[in-house]
Amino acid sequence: MAQARAEELRRLLNRAAHAYYVLDAPEMEDPVYDRLYRELVALEEADPELIGPDSPTRRVGGAPAEGFTSVAHRVPLLSLDNAFSPDDLDVWYGRLLKVLDREAQEGSQAPALPMVGELKIDGNALALSYEQGVLVRAATRGDGERGEEITANVRTIRSVPLRLALASPPAWVEVRGEAFIPEATFTAINAERAERGEAPFANPRNACAGTLRQLDPKVVAARGLSFFAYTLHLPDDWLAGPRSQWQALDWLKAAGFCVNPHCALCPDLAAVKAFCDRWEQERRGLPYATDGVVVKLDDLRLQEEAGFTQKAPRWAIALKYAAEEAPSRLLRLTCQV
Ligand code: NAD
Repeated sequence: MAQARAEELRRLLNRAAHAYYVLDAPEMEDPVYDRLYRELVALEEADPELIGPDSPTRRVGGAPAEGFTSVAHRVPLLSLDNAFSPDDLDVWYGRLLKVLDREAQEGSQAPALPMVGELKIDGNALALSYEQGVLVRAATRGDGERGEEITANVRTIRSVPLRLALASPPAWVEVRGEAFIPEATFTAINAERAERGEAPFANPRNACAGTLRQLDPKVVAARGLSFFAYTLHLPDDWLAGPRSQWQALDWLKAAGFCVNPHCALCPDLAAVKAFCDRWEQERRGLPYATDGVVVKLDDLRLQEEAGFTQKAPRWAIALKYAAEEAPSRLLRLTCQV
């Protein structure tokens, strides 16, 4: 019984993921996908023998699309585990303390680890490679190991520096962040598509993914994409590198990237929850879509110690807002700048 259901869920989810990630044309509403996904996770946790090699719980995104050169990521570009409530955040934090061997002693409180709260921008992850300070390659996330090389398209995004604003840049730098289409631009793109009799994009994220995969960079330039940087990889021997996520964000700003200003260094989990509560309301005034908050352990050495599962870092989690589980994403409010 459970085996047949797990097989059915795998089939449904893999089909939906292909339509979503590779064809940029979702066949299923996100909340439905998330619900089926969680059902599969629960079945697999109850009986690990049900985990198949083709299970979407073991994979990131979709395979690189044909028509683009596929490139290997220097460091795997993984997904994020999701939380849907403050209780899920408690569970994640408890697991993290366990992995780091820092669980609360009997009678005392759980240790507080500083974390960074960032808005989860609803776009597409990009990996940007710089050599001697110059942008040499840009790639999509793809399946996490290999992405699609889309350098010519990314060069048209004005908030992506073509040269780092650093007097002596490291030999190489890899910057990750989110390419996205602001809400007003998304509405305009869909209006133009309707005029031409073309099917509208389902949401800004799919519009962004479809745009990044255009074969003509001029079309990309006209679509008005933006980029927020949030992750930095530097050579191990680069001693001037940041020691924390918070410092990494400062480094990225100094190097000329646009970092989303709505982030916070939180001393403990209570502060993280307050940050999430605040942005659940305030995000409605932003000119771009967000679908949650990403919480990251601040200390990069502890991040390394916590490591990764097959699909996601253990030191980060995405809290998705309940409103995003509304039956139709058309209900999402558009924003004023
Ligand atoms: P995700 O969107 O839940 O989270 C990971 C992504 O968050 C990262 O890859 C990055 O692109 C993004 N991100 C935004 N801001 C960030 C920040 N500050 N720091 C780090 N990352 C940040 O995971 P996913 O694997 O990209 O997609 C899974 C989701 O996609 C599901 O929850 C589902 O809603 C949707 N999906 C829908 C369908 C469908 O058929 N409707 C199919 C597959 C997936």
